[in-house]
This record gives sequence, C-alpha cells and structure tokens, in this order.
Amino acid sequence: MSKRELLARLLYQSGVGGVLRHWGGWNGLLVLNYHRVGDWASSPWDKDLYSASAEDFDAQMRFFKSEFDVIGSADLPDIQNRRGRYVQVTFDDGYRDNHDVAFPILKSHGLTATFFVCTGFLDHGGVPWWDELAWIIRRAPEDELPAFRGFPTMSLKHGGRLHAIRALNDAFDVMSDAKRIGFLDELADVTQTGRCPPEEGQHLWMTWDMAREMHRNGMTIGGHTLNHVELSRLSKAEQLEEVKGSCNRIEAELGTPVTIFSYPYGTKRSFDANTRLALAEAGIRYGYSYNGGFQKTGAWDNYNIKRIAVETSVSVALLKGMATLPQLLA
Ligand SMILES: [Zn+2]
Repeated sequence: MSKRELLARLLYQSGVGGVLRHWGGWNGLLVLNYHRVGDWASSPWDKDLYSASAEDFDAQMRFFKSEFDVIGSADLPDIQNRRGRYVQVTFDDGYRDNHDVAFPILKSHGLTATFFVCTGFLDHGGVPWWDELAWIIRRAPEDELPAFRGFPTMSLKHGGRLHAIRALNDAFDVMSDAKRIGFLDELADVTQTGRCPPEEGQHLWMTWDMAREMHRNGMTIGGHTLNHVELSRLSKAEQLEEVKGSCNRIEAELGTPVTIFSYPYGTKRSFDANTRLALAEAGIRYGYSYNGGFQKTGAWDNYNIKRIAVETSVSVALLKGMATLPQLLA
C-alpha cells in the first residue's frame, strides 16, 4: 500500500477526514479527470482507461455533491477568486460510455460535467494506439510475446497480458506518433494478431447527436485536438490548427463557441508557450493539464488548470483523501 493510500485510509477510518472537510483545509478548485466509466471486465480495450464502474461513479458523485460545491465550466470566472471548496468533473477523449453511462448518472444527481472530445474520433472513428495495443496483446494466440525492439520476452500467461500491456504502454507513451505506428506494425507481426481493423472501433466514440443531447442537458463540450496529438511536438502553425480546428468542429456541430480545452497527455512536457499562444488565438479561456494538483483561490494559471486522475486503482478512501487534503494527496 502506498503512503498516500495509507494516509487516506487513516483519514477516512478515523473520522478526521469528515471534520477536515467541514472545518479545515483548502480553498480553491479541485478538478477530477475521468476517461471511461462502466464495465471493463469484458472490454477488449485498454482497461486502465476505465476510471470507475457505474456504481462507483454514482457513489463518487453522491459524495462530491454532499461535501463540496460541484461547479461547471460556466461558473469558472465567478469562483476563480472566491473562497470555497469547489470540485469540477471532467472527461477526456469522447468515449461513448461518457454518454451512455456517466451522463445519466450526472443527470440523476443534478450535476454538470465537462467533456473534452477529440473531434477526429467523433468524425472518423478509429482505434487509438493505447486501445489497439491492448487489443493486440489480448488477442495474441501464443502464451509468450517474443523479444522485439529491445523489449525482453514476456509471458502472456495469467496476469502476464495485463503486465505486458502496461510495460508496452509506458514505452509507447513517450514516443512520437510516427514511431508508435512502426511499433504497432511490428507488434502485430510478432504476435501474429495483425493490426486492429478500424471498424472494430466504430462504437467506441460518442456521436455528434449524443454530444448535442448532453450539451442541451447542461453539459459542456470542450476541445481536445483533432487527432489526439502531443501538442508540444508540433510547430506553432500545426498546434494552432489542432486547437482551432477541433474547437471550430465543435462549434459547427453544437452551435456554440468553445472556450475550454484540455491538452492530450496533459503532462508538463505535452504543452508549451506556443500552445498557450494557440489557445489565446482560438479564444480559449481555460486550458487543462493532467498532472495532479489543484487551484488555490486567487492563484490560478488559466492555461494550466491542474487535474487529478480518477482511475480504478484509486480507492474510494484515496479519492476522498485527495478531496479532503489535496495539499498533501492530490
Ligand atoms: Zn486524451
């Protein structure tokens, strides 16, 4: 158990957490980030992208609604300099379960959330590299992945497949897109699985009709590039095209201007000074990263709104702990 987890459990079990939430602690905005919600057991895709089951998501929303002010994107200018403990719920990428599973739960609690969609996925479908990687390893007919490109031979028996997916995912994460394609081709060869046909992913993403329905019901749709690229790897002009192009697509489909954006990958190295210029030129007011932390009242960087990851590995105790003591745990 990590130190973070241990401290969170201590807070949770001792009852100190409840007291702190009411009387102590922090002022500002804590932003949660989800990717997928639902049943991952039967999914052929990247299971690590599932943030919560439907039941857990429901319980989390109940907790945040009862203990904090859950706000939407429209509230940001108002609360930026106001004391209080605000929580915002966000989703990245535009997976269909956001509409099918998370949206009805949010509605049932009377809550709003922001969905940052990669417009290329909504427009053209397709399977992103992280999901294809998982798909290939899960389908591999042999119980062993031969050594390739500097990776050792990996067992695919028992928990070996998940272990291999995670090891390869970590390596892919820091590659350029071009390099990833080469690796996927080679992986498809050595596993004898072949590349994943794009039509396998046709139900992965929400449709524009779904996005419109969510928008009509008080949800915010924000930008997340056209092609899910790491912006800092691109030229200034290419960055502007990814930012502005995706926001223009959303505006054309929803009939409303987009003023909010999240950086794919979201780490410190995935956006730079040119990204900030591109956001400003595209009329974006808030840009979200994905690197942990929270916003202290009056000390926001509007183009680096920090978010914490909600993942299945984040226990209820740790999530409550992060919300109670973000100074230490988020
Ligand atoms: Zn993303």
